[in-house]
Amino acid sequence: MTYNIFEKVPLLSNLKILYHQGKQYIPDVTTANIAGIFRGRPVLNGTNVDVQKLNNLCPTEAFLANPFRLDMGKCTFCGECARQFPDNISFTKDYKLATNERNALIIKAGENKPVQINPTLIRKEIHSMFGGSLKLRQISAAGDNSCEMELNAAGNVNFDMGRFGIEFVASPRHADGIVITGPISENMAEPIQICYDATPEPKLIILVGTDAISGGIFADSPALNRSFLDKFHIDLFVPGNPAHPLTFINGLLDLIKEY
Ligand code: SF4
Repeated sequence: MTYNIFEKVPLLSNLKILYHQGKQYIPDVTTANIAGIFRGRPVLNGTNVDVQKLNNLCPTEAFLANPFRLDMGKCTFCGECARQFPDNISFTKDYKLATNERNALIIKAGENKPVQINPTLIRKEIHSMFGGSLKLRQISAAGDNSCEMELNAAGNVNFDMGRFGIEFVASPRHADGIVITGPISENMAEPIQICYDATPEPKLIILVGTDAISGGIFADSPALNRSFLDKFHIDLFVPGNPAHPLTFINGLLDLIKEY
C-alpha cells in the first residue's frame, strides 16, 4: 500500500491546487487588462464625415452630426462601423464607461479621454450609507440574459465584487437600489414600479446595458413602456452590449466612493 501524503494532510491538497491554478481572482479590478477581443470606449476621427452613411449601417443609428459624435448609450458595440470605416472609428479596450450623466455617454470626434462620474450629481448620502455595503436587486425587464450573465459574473471568484461589500439580494426590501437590464417591455413596466416602491429610501437606480439605457435595437418597438425612467433620477448608466463586469464594478466603486 502506498502512502499518499496529500490524502493524509488535506491542506497540502489545497496548496497543490493553488500552485497549479494560480490566482483565480483579479487582484485589482481598477487596473486589470482585458485579454482578447473587447470593444470598449470608442474613438472618433474626422470632421467631414458622412453620418448618414454611418447610420445606414448602424443598427441603432447611434451617430450624431454637427459635430460628429457617437452615443454609447445607443451603441450595440457590434463593431461594424469600425470595420467599414477604420479611419473614422476605432474601439479602445477602456472598460471604464459608466457615468451618472447621460450626456457623458456621447463621445465627440477627436476626444480620447476616460468617461467619468460627475461627483456633483451624486446624492450626499450615497457614500456615507453605501460606501462599505451596497445591496442591489436586479430586474431583467425583457432582457436577453446577456447583461444578466455578466452581472452574475461580477460576483464570481474572478471579479468578486463581494470584496467591496457589493452583492445582489433576492428581495427589494433588503436592497439599497435596483439594477435594470433589458429594454423594459410593457409587461415589465408595472413590476419595475412595484419593485422600486418596495425598496427602502434612499435608493439607487442603475441601468445596465444598451437596451436598458436607450432601448437599443428595440427602441422603436410598441411593445416597450419606458415611462418609469422618465419619473426618476438615474444614478448610474453602465453601457455595453452586454456590459462587462469590470465596467459595472468600476462604475459602482466610483459612485459610492468619497469625493
Ligand atoms: S459599433 Fe455601435 S456605432 Fe458602430 S455600427 Fe455597431 S452599434 Fe453602430
